[in-house]
Amino acid sequence: MPAIPSIAERQEQSPVLRDRFGRDIRYLRISVTDKCDLRCNYCMPKGFRDFTEPAAWLTYPEILRLTRIFAALGTRRVRITGGEPLTRKGLPQLIAGIRAIERVEDISLSTNGTLLAPVAAELQAAGLNRLNVSLDSLDRACWAGITGADKLPHVLAGLEAARAAGLGPVKVNMVLLKGVNEHEIPAVVRYCFEHGYILRLIEEMPMGQTGSVRGMATLETIRQQLVSEFGLIPVTRELGGGPARYWETPDGHNSLGFITPMSQHFCASCNRVRLASDGRLYLCLGQEHSVDLRAPLRDGCSDAELTAIIRQAIELKPEKHEFREQPQQIIRFMSHTGG
Ligand code: SAM
Ligand code: SF4
Repeated sequence: MPAIPSIAERQEQSPVLRDRFGRDIRYLRISVTDKCDLRCNYCMPKGFRDFTEPAAWLTYPEILRLTRIFAALGTRRVRITGGEPLTRKGLPQLIAGIRAIERVEDISLSTNGTLLAPVAAELQAAGLNRLNVSLDSLDRACWAGITGADKLPHVLAGLEAARAAGLGPVKVNMVLLKGVNEHEIPAVVRYCFEHGYILRLIEEMPMGQTGSVRGMATLETIRQQLVSEFGLIPVTRELGGGPARYWETPDGHNSLGFITPMSQHFCASCNRVRLASDGRLYLCLGQEHSVDLRAPLRDGCSDAELTAIIRQAIELKPEKHEFREQPQQIIRFMSHTGG
């Protein structure tokens, strides 16, 4: 087996953040809050209130400083997530600040959509390129049962507003919840095709105690059914740049993605790290390896010192998640790092 190069050797070879497995880190996901106006039962426990105090959140200037450092190290894509990012005040200002960072090419947002309609145009004007909206059901009662709130019409209005604001193509994320929303998948596919949204179906991951209660469900059978029902063909060209594998209608007008962390993972091409709202940098969605960046930020570290801390942190990036092998090991909820 060839010797793994030392951190100094790797840094010499690559000014870009490169991990021990030769993966270049180009994508930073930033959680701006772990708070949320919903309680999706696969993400957070019912009545959960044990959120990080806002004083512990990174401020926008702190987030911008870290993003600038990441951009200098090769980050080209930034996603804002949460919790629900639109519950934090002033998000368009943060987006405008990230937009001003020269090397960042793409800014996206993950949202549950409840607060989206009134701010979609402002987000676009601030420099947001794209967004993903969660939509686990089109049935108002089923949606309320999953999220704990009766706000499906707000989400649908948010989707429309995003499209009208030019934040397209809008992506819709639907988590497969065994025995809860499986039967609705063809209807959601049809709805997204009709509205020009790109639907991505996601296998539920065992995050915290909430993401593991239903047991594992994979998308393989559903994929076969949808391929046959909609005459889908696999997309072979690069699309999306993430873990989704896409299929499309024969006329090429509509595509449908499958994100399968449980049945087939794509860790070998993972290019991302996650900054939690409290300033902790998580190296893998499915592992707890992390490094605190808030203390060095607030202790007056220089950019060069922060750069060195980030480079060291990347050394901890694990080879892969172990959702199948060790489903109980992720104690944090998905809302902490934002998916
Ligand atoms: N609040 C925003 C939203 O719901 O889109 C952003 C944060 S949320 C944690 C990001 C994504 O993670 C959502 O698409 C959500 O459905 C997904 N998610 C949460 N818990 C999950 C789990 N246990 N397995 C798979 N996806 C999950
Ligand atoms: Fe909130 Fe998103 Fe988690 Fe639902 S999935 S509880 S909307 S953070």
